[in-house]
Amino acid sequence: MHQSAADEHRHEGGESGRGHARSSLLAQPLPLVAYVLAVVIAYLALTAWQLAVTEYRLRDVSTFLALALCGAVCIETSRRLGMPAGVARDLLSAWWLPVALLLPPVYALLIPLPLQVLSHYRVRRTMAYRRVLVTVATGLSGLAASLVFHRVVPEPLADGARWVIEEQGALLVALGCAVLFVVLNTLLVGIAVCAVREGRWQDALWTRETLLLDVVELCLGLLIMINCVISPALLLVVLPPVVLLQRSLMHQQLQAAARTDAKTGLLNAGAWQREADIELSRAERSREALAILLIDIDYFKRVNDTHGHLVGDQVLVNVAGTLCLQLRDYDVIGRFGGEEFAVLLPGADTVEACRVAERLRARVRRLAVPAEDTTVSVTISIGVALYRTHGQDLIELLASADLALYRAKQSGRDRVCLPAVRKSG
Ligand code: GH3
Ligand code: MG
Ligand code: MG
Repeated sequence: MHQSAADEHRHEGGESGRGHARSSLLAQPLPLVAYVLAVVIAYLALTAWQLAVTEYRLRDVSTFLALALCGAVCIETSRRLGMPAGVARDLLSAWWLPVALLLPPVYALLIPLPLQVLSHYRVRRTMAYRRVLVTVATGLSGLAASLVFHRVVPEPLADGARWVIEEQGALLVALGCAVLFVVLNTLLVGIAVCAVREGRWQDALWTRETLLLDVVELCLGLLIMINCVISPALLLVVLPPVVLLQRSLMHQQLQAAARTDAKTGLLNAGAWQREADIELSRAERSREALAILLIDIDYFKRVNDTHGHLVGDQVLVNVAGTLCLQLRDYDVIGRFGGEEFAVLLPGADTVEACRVAERLRARVRRLAVPAEDTTVSVTISIGVALYRTHGQDLIELLASADLALYRAKQSGRDRVCLPAVRKSG
């Protein structure tokens, strides 16, 4: 599928274990409720219309069942790998794209239903309204692609292999309709994501990674479609490689999730320490400078107490985003604890490290995170420690940075400090 319920779930930064009240549709912001209801009503009306006007043929029904079965096999064979929050992409659209293009439009509306039900009960139970939105979005995008395609190519299955060989133009139309399917699907789900999430709307729709997966999924869908036109028996040949791709995609996403802090998208503490160890060994070999910053949000408990945990979470996400934007690609940033972040700056001496830290402090200060009828601003305190000067390994460096952070807090917060100079004698 293009964007799964769990994917949307990740975008909204939610966690399904937080209780029913917040996960039901009616607990969501009004524009989101209205949007979901409108899309569902449109889906039901269009499905009723298509069910009434479709002429049902055995060949169409059997092709539909064969493709649905392949999708179900893909779900079942990658199910045991698991799908934690944040791991969300699969390649199921590759199976329902041929349904949309080869069969009458009603099948495009129906195909997401059995597969989403299967995913919901066999893989991961995400919030019901999100699952419904994703199902309906896929159905509607498939319908649009199907209607456009059948205007140009009324009977793709009638000619079999000849159609594939002789009608190159039709394949181009199929490609165009596949793109339409992906774009519509992304927009329909993306609008809901934008309704509840702060941040750049582009990120809610496409990132470089999701775009690449869309292209792969689209190509797979077209290949399956061509095979299906030549002979439905060829589905048996394409099924194993698609299953394998699906499994390796899941595996790769699980690995990435194990390194990442789900709330902020930064490295988690374990992954940060592993990366930091590698950078330290490099600095040791090359005799280069290196600095560590420990960053802690000031009076963060007050933000939670005054505005609630959800706004607190939004502040965390925004601070993390601001810090990231100010750093270079090769700086290593991670979320260390609740409202604490660690940054490793390769090559940075005292002057450079303090300059970066001051910049981070100034930028975070300027943040204004929207809360109900106001905005929330926070400040940060930063402890700086230099490799060799304040510590010879990661543990010593972290301990020094922690002392420096303590100094920053003690001397009034919203400042950058180095560890106290030890007086000898
Ligand atoms: P200080 O300036 O001394 O750092 O004060 P503080 O209030 O920031 O420090 P304290 O350590 O007392 O409080 C940290 C708070 O961060 C307490 C905890 O509820 C909150 N917190 C930790 N993790 C999260 C999180 O993931 N989300 C939210 N909303 N709050 C969190
Ligand atoms: Mg704090
Ligand atoms: Mg703290």
